[in-house]
Amino acid sequence: MKSAEQHQLFPLGFPHGGALSTRGAASMLHMAPNNRLANDRVPEKHRRHSLICNSLTASKRRISWVDASASDYNVAMKTSAKHMPAQSQRLQNVVIVGGGISGLATALALHRLGIKPLLLEQADHLRTAGATLLIWTNAWKALEALGVANRIRKTCDKLSGLEFFGEDGASFLCSGFDNISRDFEVRGVERKTLLEILKESLPDGTAIYDSRVIGIKKLAGGFTEVQCENGRTIETKVLIGCDGAGSVVRKWMNMDEPRYVGYTSTRGLGIYPHGHNLGNKFCQILGGGVRAGIVPMDANRVYWFVVFNCSGERVTDVEIIRKEALNYVEGWPAMITEAINRSPLDTLSRRGISDRWMWPIGGPPLYKTGVTLAGDAMHPMTPNLGQGGCLALEDAVVLARELSKALSSSDSETMNCSTESQLEEIERIELAFKAYIKERWPRVLSMGVQSYLMGALLQLDSKLICSIRNKLLPQILQVDSFAGHTFYDCGTLQ
Ligand SMILES: Cc1cc2nc3c(=O)[nH]c(=O)nc-3n(C[C@H](O)[C@H](O)[C@H](O)COP(=O)(O)OP(=O)(O)OC[C@H]3O[C@@H](n4cnc5c(N)ncnc54)[C@H](O)[C@@H]3O)c2cc1C
Repeated sequence: MKSAEQHQLFPLGFPHGGALSTRGAASMLHMAPNNRLANDRVPEKHRRHSLICNSLTASKRRISWVDASASDYNVAMKTSAKHMPAQSQRLQNVVIVGGGISGLATALALHRLGIKPLLLEQADHLRTAGATLLIWTNAWKALEALGVANRIRKTCDKLSGLEFFGEDGASFLCSGFDNISRDFEVRGVERKTLLEILKESLPDGTAIYDSRVIGIKKLAGGFTEVQCENGRTIETKVLIGCDGAGSVVRKWMNMDEPRYVGYTSTRGLGIYPHGHNLGNKFCQILGGGVRAGIVPMDANRVYWFVVFNCSGERVTDVEIIRKEALNYVEGWPAMITEAINRSPLDTLSRRGISDRWMWPIGGPPLYKTGVTLAGDAMHPMTPNLGQGGCLALEDAVVLARELSKALSSSDSETMNCSTESQLEEIERIELAFKAYIKERWPRVLSMGVQSYLMGALLQLDSKLICSIRNKLLPQILQVDSFAGHTFYDCGTLQ
């Protein structure tokens, strides 16, 4: 039997927390463990106002005013100010949930700017499984800003061009990257390598493993408390959800689940101990409702993927995953079947593709007092442009840059600052989030839509329409105009 406190901390807990007294909130939660139900019972007049705690001397007393409007919030903050003691408890500046690309890159960007984040990852160690990612020019700029680009570059070769084939092996589009721009750069980077280099660049103790976040709650004074499955609770000024498409933070912010788009992708890493003869072009083979991609990473490793239309059922047995991929490309050019056959089973992964477009209006806010999202938690997208991880790297640079202007202390685990300066800082954090979202949403929405449309084109399944598509693709896919989105520059950490 959960206590009221635990109910309040449940992942979907009280996202629209209204003006309940602490006692009122607790009793509501006792009455209705389903928090949505509890929330529905909150009187309307209370929903519109922030809750002020009468006394904060006991550091664990809590309030819920997450959805208060900005003016309600300011009133609440000013009213509560006189009740607030100077904070002397242990309080984190920034807690990041999730230690994937987004979480590690955000942690590193903050660290480079002198802010000490705490990263909570549910796994018990750095994730080393998973396939390769195409890392494009825009992400190399972000990696430059993070100071790790050259280390990563050394692990893989630059791709020299793009070639499309029909399933009979006939090439119908071939273009070199040289004539796009000298700056243009795309490489297949092993996810493991990227994560390891990001992690190694962080000070020891930044990432805490075995720390699955299961609950989030607003505290008095605008701070946030996260609760981990292992029983640990942490209070923070800023909470960033980098916990991927199934994000707990995103659920708490009441945003929709990503939706399945009708196709699934299997990926793997072919190992060629004596070298391959595939050159260094990114090749795609297009069939009806199925396509395959081949990305030589260096002389001995070839990343491949097969994307197929299906109803989205889950398969986890890697033997079956391999057989299924081979079935989909039966009779196709040997370059794909050989790459599949050369892949150790532990390099195979299969995932249904889903996305959610990030609209700035018309849905729940993209940030709430002290809490926002980055990476797939914010903008899960189809992989047709190979940009999801690249955008997570851009997010990291932009968000850290904005936050560094807002956070007053470089090391505030223990803070002794006045209540007024705390309030000012919370207001600056709001402005930082606002600037972050303003900069990110046009970029991320446009990439999500373009990627979805590209998928719709490449996953067409009628033979006739596919043959017309393949004839038109050389006109539609002019490589230099296609590459336009990869020249986005997220800027530096200055
Ligand atoms: C088939 C496919 C191909 C792709 N190809 C490319 C590509 O070529 N290039 C590219 O840039 N992108 C590509 N992507 C997208 C890319 O993989 C994602 O955008 C990227 O991994 C997102 O990183 P993330 O850190 O936001 O999320 P994730 O990688 O999902 O990481 C989230 C982390 O949070 C942790 N976590 C989750 N919940 C909790 C919790 N409650 N508490 C604590 N920790 C938690 C998870 O364990 C995980 O470590 C592809 C995606 C797919 C599916």
